[in-house]
This record gives sequence, C-alpha cells and structure tokens, in this order.
Amino acid sequence: MNIAVIGTGYVGLVSGVCLASKGHKITCFDSNEITINLLQKGKNPIHENGLTELMIENEKNILFKILNSSTESNLKDFDVIIIAVGTPTLKGKTDLSQIESVAIMIGKMLKNSEKYVSLILKSTVLPGTTDTYFRNIIENESGKKLGKFGLGMNPEFLREGNAVNDFLSPDRIVLGYEDLGTLNVLKKIYQPWDCQKLELNTRSAEMMKYVNNSLLATLISSVNEYANIARELGEIDFKKVMHGVHLDNRWSPLKKDGTKIFPEILEYLRPGCGFGGSCFPKDIKALSSLAKETSIKPNIIDSVIAVNEGQPHRIIKILEDRVKDLSNKRVLILGLAFKPETDDVRESVSIKLINLLDKKALSISAHDPIAIDNAKKFLDPSIRVNYIDNWQIELDKADIIIIATKWSIYESINKLSNSLSEKVIFDTRSMLDPDKFDIMNYLSVE
Ligand code: NAD
Repeated sequence: MNIAVIGTGYVGLVSGVCLASKGHKITCFDSNEITINLLQKGKNPIHENGLTELMIENEKNILFKILNSSTESNLKDFDVIIIAVGTPTLKGKTDLSQIESVAIMIGKMLKNSEKYVSLILKSTVLPGTTDTYFRNIIENESGKKLGKFGLGMNPEFLREGNAVNDFLSPDRIVLGYEDLGTLNVLKKIYQPWDCQKLELNTRSAEMMKYVNNSLLATLISSVNEYANIARELGEIDFKKVMHGVHLDNRWSPLKKDGTKIFPEILEYLRPGCGFGGSCFPKDIKALSSLAKETSIKPNIIDSVIAVNEGQPHRIIKILEDRVKDLSNKRVLILGLAFKPETDDVRESVSIKLINLLDKKALSISAHDPIAIDNAKKFLDPSIRVNYIDNWQIELDKADIIIIATKWSIYESINKLSNSLSEKVIFDTRSMLDPDKFDIMNYLSVE
C-alpha cells in the first residue's frame, strides 16, 4: 500500500521504517527541515536500536519529504495517511496544535481530491479526539463527510529503546475505526503481523492506550509510596518485602514443571526515583484533566501524579539525611536519559535531580552515553553542569555518585567498590549489588 506517515519522531519514524520493512511503500513527512534533511542523507535524528540498519535495508521502500502549506498537496497521492505528530501537555491539558495543523492541511488537500483516503491517528489522543475533534476539522476544511474519507485510530505501544522490536513483534495491534473502509485498510496494513488484532471504535482504542499507561504508572507510584513509608518506619528490608510480594503466584505464576515465571510486570513493582519520559507523565495528566470535565474525580490518577512529582524530592531528602551538608560535595550524575537505550530526556528524573541539586551541591557533573546533547537543550543554561565523556575518570573526583539511569555500563561500578569506599553511591535504580559496598557508603531506595 502507498502510505504517508506524518511526523518522523520516535513513533512516526519507527512506524514508517517498520512498515516499509514489511513491503509497504512509505513516505515519511515532517515539518522540521533539519530532520528531513538528515533522513534524506540516510542519517538518523533519533537514537533507537536497530533503526538505522532497518532504514538502510529498506531504503527502496521509504522516502522522506518536508510537509508545509506549500507541499500539502503531495498528500493526495496516498491511500492511507498515518498521523504520528506530538501531543504534549500544556498546563496539564493535551496540546493538540500539531494535530490541528496536520488536520487543516489534510482537510484542504481532500477538498481538491476525489479519492477515498483513510486517515489514521497513531498519536496518543484522548477519547473523543478522533471521532469528534479531528473529524470536525477534516469535515469543515474539506467540505466532505465521513465516508468520503475514512477515519481510524491505531494507538502505539512501543517502548523507546526497544521500539523496533516492539513494533515488529507487538503484544497486540489495535485497529480502531469509524468506517468499514478504514477497518479493511488497517487489516491490510497489518496483514503481515500474526499477533492478536483488536477491532473496536476509535474512542475505545484511545481509552485503551491511556488505561495501559495509567495502570503501569499506578504500580510505579504505589511501590514508591510503600518504600517511602517503610523507610520512615525504619528497620525494614524493603528489598526482601518486595521479593516476597513478587513470589505471590498472581504476580509470578508457577509453570507446570514447578518453576516460576518472573514476568516483566515485576519491573514496575520495584521502587525507584519515579517515572519520566514523553508518555506516562503527560498521558496521565491529560486523562486526569479529561476526567475532571465529567462527574468523576480522578483520585487515584491524581495521587499517582503527586507521588511521582514528589519522588525526586524524596531522593534528595534521602541523600541529605545521609550526607547532611551538600554544599561542599561534588556530585556526579550517571545517566541523563529517562531510561536506558534512548537519547530521550523528556521528563527525565535525572534532569529534575540536577535542578534540585543546583543550589545545594558544590558542583554537578553528568554523564550519559548518548543523551548529553538533548539534556543540554532541556536544562536551563544558568545551571552549571560539567558534562563528561569519561565517567570512570570522574568517579575519582566526585564525593557523591548518583546512578539516575539504568545504563548497563554503570554495572561495572560493582567491581570498583574498593576504590570508591570514601564516596557515597546512591543507586536510585537498584542496579548494583549492595553486598559489594559498605552499608555506610551505599544508598538505595529499597
Ligand atoms: P516526537 O516529538 O518525537 O515527534 C513528533 C514529530 O512530529 C516531530 O518530528 C515534529 O517535527 C513532527 N511534527 C509536528 N508538527 C508537524 C506538522 N504539522 N507536520 C509534520 N510534522 C510535524 O513525538 P513522539 O515521541 O514520536 O510521539 C508522537 C506521538 O506518539 C505522541 O502522541 C506520543 O504520545 C505518542 N507515543 C509516543 C511513544 C514514545 O515512546 N515516544 C510511544 C507511544 C505513543
């Protein structure tokens, strides 16, 4: 099929490249000229494992083009337009301006076209956005009613860092549709995949994405709150507490042969420094503000947000309880990305920790294998951070080492425990082996 993908960020680019790898003819559009220029030269503007290789392997199936008001007529060549632009939050509400400008362009293009085109939202949008907000703009701009064009919602569940794998081997594919023509188009697009495919209306597809993210975030905030309570009570080995909880058969079932399965969900049931990233924080806030437009008070969702926003402050409190005075301490932050295997720093807890430490610590150094350039864009330039390439050398100079992102390279600190005996190591991601360290210089959230 001849498919346009609008938005070549973490979702659009991965989707475009993976669809091309299944034989579809893909044209990826973006309004950002720098991004498109890079892609046209075969360079990748984002870091995603395996993406560049897959892009090069499938270059005959994929084109990159700039989209703006003077190029919008190019969209008339396609049977399907998938929209994967950003939907950030602004003052707690979803900012739909990127969706709006794309909808206006598509609507104008449809006005001068007789062809039936399926318009499929892949961006995460609140229930009702596709069938009301987006549909209204398209109908108003094009002067055509649904049926003359098609409407679908195909939420994306990929996880940054593992996005190519997640897209190529998804847990399920959600085919949200408002007309049967679009359902058939969605079935055709995903025909090469043999996982479960769920057919439902666009509102249900939209809601599924929010419930999925909110539930996972709820687990994270719940466990962080339990760990915080345990620390205040004292003399509780929270690591052992959670180990016992995980052994409950409902979390880690027994196989027929008597061995246990430890599913990935258990990762969400470990305390840490809170969740970040471009999805969980914004999606949960958006769901909360939508709920408040109804008669439902989103008590749980709001608590999940509150616990998460408090967690970086808890981390600093735990540190200050141990160190007392930070003003003469040199702090080294290891990891800036919101999670390993990505260069994305949106809502990264590391950035929040640096902001909190800025006025307290003597100096801050920071390392990340790939996210330093992005972090520089997100941190206020008035905050003095010494970005470093060689973190091993910096270990010597620091008084406090905070592991803020679970990059596997930092595991090698386990082997350096003897040379680090004078330093405080705050393992906020619980990735080191506590037994290797003196209890007085190892800190964790467990
Ligand atoms: P992103 O910010 O990385 O990418 C958005 C892209 O859209 C940018 O390249 C931007 O230049 C482009 N764009 C904006 N306005 C445009 C316009 N008018 N015309 C053409 N291009 C335009 O965002 P992302 O992380 O890829 O997320 C996209 C959507 O997918 C969001 O709704 C997000 O919530 C959702 N989502 C993200 C993830 C994730 O892990 N990042 C996972 C699932 C779903």
